[in-house]
Amino acid sequence: CPDPRSQPLDVLARWRAAHAPNRSAARRRVLVTGGAGFIGSHLVDRLMQLGHEVIVVDSLFTGRKEYLAPWLGNLRFEFIRHDVTEPIVLEVDQIYHLACPASPVHYKYNAIKTIKTNVIGTLNMLGLAKRIGARLLLASTSEVYGDPLQHPQTEDYWGNVNPIGVRSCYDEGKRVAETLCFDYHRQHHVDIRIARIFNTYGPRMIENDGRVVSNFVAQALRGEHLTVYGDGQQTRSFCYVNDLVDGLVRLMNTDDITGPINLGNPTEFSMLQLAHCVREKIPQCAGIRFLPPTPDDPSKRQPDIACARQLLGWEPQVPLSQGLDWMVEEFRARGIGDKQSGAD
Ligand code: NAD
Ligand code: UDP
Ligand code: UDP
Repeated sequence: CPDPRSQPLDVLARWRAAHAPNRSAARRRVLVTGGAGFIGSHLVDRLMQLGHEVIVVDSLFTGRKEYLAPWLGNLRFEFIRHDVTEPIVLEVDQIYHLACPASPVHYKYNAIKTIKTNVIGTLNMLGLAKRIGARLLLASTSEVYGDPLQHPQTEDYWGNVNPIGVRSCYDEGKRVAETLCFDYHRQHHVDIRIARIFNTYGPRMIENDGRVVSNFVAQALRGEHLTVYGDGQQTRSFCYVNDLVDGLVRLMNTDDITGPINLGNPTEFSMLQLAHCVREKIPQCAGIRFLPPTPDDPSKRQPDIACARQLLGWEPQVPLSQGLDWMVEEFRARGIGDKQSGAD
């Protein structure tokens, strides 16, 4: 497993981490950027349940304050509406840096804003981490591998990414974010963790965010056709959100490891297989409609998680069929599909 840590943490950072006023290891003060989003809000639930103090910084571009409703009013919780492309001064022990739209529909909506979020937003969080000696975990992505020429993808694969395509604001943005993390680590001894997250699904996905699992489940519940882009032979590996959160928390709290570490479910499915699985669960689904492929769509994606197994003792527990059942239940509870359109 790659562990390119070349510099020890500086003495001051270690001293600060061990002697932060007002807080202990059992009750850390943790910043979650993007904490009102899909993955962030599940992470916040976990951190609050563990007894930590949690500060969420989120612009609410794609996030929803409702996801944080159980914690609003709790003295250990604070929500700050703020855009990470602007500096912010806080005192925390750990930073989970998730702020960035993740769905292609959302990140292409304002591509320049997306790359600013990845580059300037990450720079600001690293500047903050440097000033206060906090540990920073970057939510990077399997998209750094682009349309991979190596399969499955190991962390030492450098990727095959189009630098000028419609997905580049996200892919290249995350690649620069990783570069910044390592430069702050080597130059300023910032304590970093990089998680390369593969496709994640579960409750609270936005029903019209364009991602394949949420699209299929919402379409099926509405009695519509499932839209398969291209021939449906392209593959992805889907990780249930609770498994992913478990991996993020383990990575953050493991000493002497920077990553990058792949976090994802290694079981690979084609989009047609996923469509059939959703159709079996939701009988009112109208069938499958094939649409043209989207540009730069990776044809294969599957994580090699040997490093996560070895270094974090982590691997996903929830099979796709089980996770889909929980997700369908939550979509139904939100009223999605209550008024079946019958046609689309
Ligand atoms: P999401 O869109 O649901 O959440 C992102 C959150 O960041 C939202 O709450 C949004 O309002 C906030 N945000 C966006 N730009 C911001 C800005 N400039 N300042 C402050 N807040 C901002 O996405 P998600 O699926 O929860 O993804 C979270 C992170 O995980 C992202 O960094 C994403 O790149 C990464 N990731 C997600 C997946 C996945 O399958 N969901 C896969 C790989 C990586
Ligand atoms: N920054 C921040 N909060 C802090 C410290 C820094 O938002 O508590 C921002 C700062 O405004 C700058 C970025 O992080 O834009 C990088 O900070 P650094 O100190 O590394 O660089 P410099 O300010 O010297 O350019
Ligand atoms: N996809 C699809 N139908 C949809 C939405 C997506 O066939 O309604 C395909 C998409 O072309 C891609 C795969 O599903 O090949 C995963 O897409 P998603 O946007 O969920 O994730 P990403 O491309 O970022 O991995």
